[in-house]
Amino acid sequence: QSEMAITNDDVRQLDRSYVFHSWSMQGSLNPLVIAGAKGCELWDYDGNTYLDFSSQLVNVNIGYQHPRVLAAMKAQLEELTTIAPATANLARGEAAKRIVDLAPEGFSKVFFTNAGADANENAMRMARMYTGRDKIFSAYRSYHGNTGSAIVATGDSRRIPNEYARGHVHFFNPYLYRSEFNATTEEEECQRALAHLRRMIECEGPNSVAAILLESVPGTAGILVPPKGYMQGVRALADEFGIVLIVDEVMAGFGRTGSWFAFEQDGIVPDLITFAKGVNAGYVPAGGVIISGKISHYFDDHFFAGGLTYSGHPLAMSAIVATLDAMKEEKVVENAATVGDGVLRAGLTSLAQKHALIGDVRGRGMFQALELVTDRVAKTPVAAADMAAIKGALLQAGILPFIAENRIHVVPPCTMSAAEVQKGLAIFDAVLGQFGSLAKS
Ligand code: PLP
Repeated sequence: QSEMAITNDDVRQLDRSYVFHSWSMQGSLNPLVIAGAKGCELWDYDGNTYLDFSSQLVNVNIGYQHPRVLAAMKAQLEELTTIAPATANLARGEAAKRIVDLAPEGFSKVFFTNAGADANENAMRMARMYTGRDKIFSAYRSYHGNTGSAIVATGDSRRIPNEYARGHVHFFNPYLYRSEFNATTEEEECQRALAHLRRMIECEGPNSVAAILLESVPGTAGILVPPKGYMQGVRALADEFGIVLIVDEVMAGFGRTGSWFAFEQDGIVPDLITFAKGVNAGYVPAGGVIISGKISHYFDDHFFAGGLTYSGHPLAMSAIVATLDAMKEEKVVENAATVGDGVLRAGLTSLAQKHALIGDVRGRGMFQALELVTDRVAKTPVAAADMAAIKGALLQAGILPFIAENRIHVVPPCTMSAAEVQKGLAIFDAVLGQFGSLAKS
């Protein structure tokens, strides 16, 4: 009964009194209050509802409170809530087997972590141990997580106040809309980005490079789908110089782009795959590294110096097993492809024809972005204050959006129906219309 009396203000005040938030100045926060959620809809204590076009931090791929996953977690709770990583545990084995089965042929084992950052942390460590080399190459337009090496491997500005790890080198990855290479076509962008990466490796000394760490589709950086041939080119460079290729699928993996892994669409096979988020839709924190046979066998007779108290936590593992089984049976990945590339992408493309504010539409599946500009020729980003106002208007109209810099990342749960997508598109249309005067048409 007491829940009846709770208001958004109560919860917000409690939060502001005691909770210290990520990536922010604590003094000026006004967090959104959420009381509950089901499927693709969330609600607060004051009677507002939101249709989710964020999947939170692009992780709730199967929507909220999936009954099958809740049932599996409840069963695991009753059976065994926690057990150390050195034990053999049924849920852990079942989760690892399912993940290996989804990976390309030749992958053999999974090392479980608590989330995405420590997945990358441990993948980099494996690559360094395996090659006996030190340097990690990663892209400026990237996010790899907030731990020692992962934040320094990250390319975006969150790296700069945290640069304590050594041995990291950054390069420019392709982004045709704002090309670093003066390219005007996908082909030029691809060739020039690969030539740049080759020169970087040559100049740093190929024998000093342990790994190239790359998001298959850089997510937080702007949903930058690589041009055709780029990932294959990176794979070829890694092979030529004996470098381990780590593909970060933390955000793009587990259905987001309309395939189980995003790199499948580029026709490459990495050496290590890192994952988290969508593997169990974030119901319990979990991540990990999927290890190819050659690297996993290396550690048959070489000591792996790494571990975590909660590596393969049974509750997280039960959520993985049930999430992956539900995704297969309910054809969630197929839905991300058909509704994402069909209804959602088609709708966003027609919004771009109507609203001069939209400078670029890009993405795959349920992983789409709108880049908002005030001038399509100069590609001037919409200012932060205007983006905040757009975000406010979308929330007011019942959409939970994902805003990053001057972009709207349109990233609903992979389970979203065509009808819900259409409902959301109509709201995006109306709100962009309200802000039409920002754009020079
Ligand atoms: N890698 C990518 C591509 C991500 O998008 C993220 C988080 O957004 C991470 C790694 C870090 O994951 P986590 O926040 O679970 O540590």
